[in-house]
Amino acid sequence: MYELLTPGSVAEYIESRPSLCGLLDTGTELTVCEVGDGNLNLIFIVRDSSDRSLVLKQALPYVRMTGPSWPLTPERTTAEARVLEIHGQLAPELVPKFFDFCHERYVLAMEDLSSFKVWRTALNNGERHVGAADAMGRYVARVAFGTSLFGVDANELKYRVAGSINPALCEITEDLVFTEPYIAEDRNWFQPELEGEVASLRGDEPFCTAMGEMKYTFMTEAESLIHGDLHTGSVMVRSDGSTRAFDCEFAFYGPVGFDLSCLFGNYLFALARARVHGDEDLANFVRALPGETWNGFVGEMRALWPDRVDPRVFSEDFLEGWLKKVHRDAIGMTAAELCRRTVGLAHVSDVETLPEDQREVVVRALLGLARKIAPERAGVGSPSELVELADEFIGHGI
Ligand code: ADP
Ligand code: MG
Repeated sequence: MYELLTPGSVAEYIESRPSLCGLLDTGTELTVCEVGDGNLNLIFIVRDSSDRSLVLKQALPYVRMTGPSWPLTPERTTAEARVLEIHGQLAPELVPKFFDFCHERYVLAMEDLSSFKVWRTALNNGERHVGAADAMGRYVARVAFGTSLFGVDANELKYRVAGSINPALCEITEDLVFTEPYIAEDRNWFQPELEGEVASLRGDEPFCTAMGEMKYTFMTEAESLIHGDLHTGSVMVRSDGSTRAFDCEFAFYGPVGFDLSCLFGNYLFALARARVHGDEDLANFVRALPGETWNGFVGEMRALWPDRVDPRVFSEDFLEGWLKKVHRDAIGMTAAELCRRTVGLAHVSDVETLPEDQREVVVRALLGLARKIAPERAGVGSPSELVELADEFIGHGI
């Protein structure tokens, strides 16, 4: 077992890392604050007396939320460090700066984002951060282009794919997002009033087949080095318009549509919440988010396209067809996100903090929406159609 950091041992650790010493004045007393509100890791914010700061993220050899009963390889932080560096080269203004990684103790050092807020928290509070959705669409595109066949030499790409496997974290997604919500499984939980609704979801054959198709896509389409967990709790926002995607420990070579689906799904949770609260201004703001992310993504892909490594058969028409395919995947996987966050293991505060009777109505609506869009995903032609459907389903009962 490697040594875990404590607030008391952080200063000594920083002194032992040459690439960190220069970032803080270790001669003075450091203020150390453990802030991990996440499910998995230890997070320390470290500040010196002249207000310079950095963040240390250390993996535990198990899931923090459950304790040692759910072991999980600390190599996940190795994956996160590697990906943070790569994504930082492709989208430096959209991820925290990478500083250092210690392979022996699984400690990642990165830029302190204390001046930011987690986007989910901001949305839950009714705040509107203009430009964040567009920024995240552009981030997905930079990564989609810069880590794939479009931006990387074909031979080198094979080695990169081989070097980027992340089996333990992929298995979590395969189970929690693409399997368990659709079968009887102990880790699922939901209000008892929803038993009938969930039984009906599990008995919906076209829907469950669509989830199988989405799982197959997730597990077999190594398109690019995706973030892998890009929900609104993995995005930081600031009032000056700066936006950062963080917590990329689930990253692996997977389908580009998956990252978009995590954003879309979580926008819809924010929309449902705004509607329950009767906050039409916020609801209108949120309604535009899927389109802004999609347009940011498409705009950036088209802007990067002239620089593709191999233009011989990857034509302009190919790009347009590929964008349609990504959209279709994103819609199908949005359905999975809607289910797994409402009747699976890990729920979201947007919905969970609503009054019980309204929560039940919202979950019914979101499950109904998931069942509509998954089998017919090719027919949902744009993010605005997705939002229109969401409005129809959420409209009932609220
Ligand atoms: P986990 O993987 O354990 O979920 P996260 O990376 O999601 O860990 O971080 C958990 C929380 O710690 C975040 O929600 C955020 O509040 C805080 N945090 C993480 N990284 C930073 C950072 N670079 N700067 C400031 N706060 C951070
Ligand atoms: Mg996290």
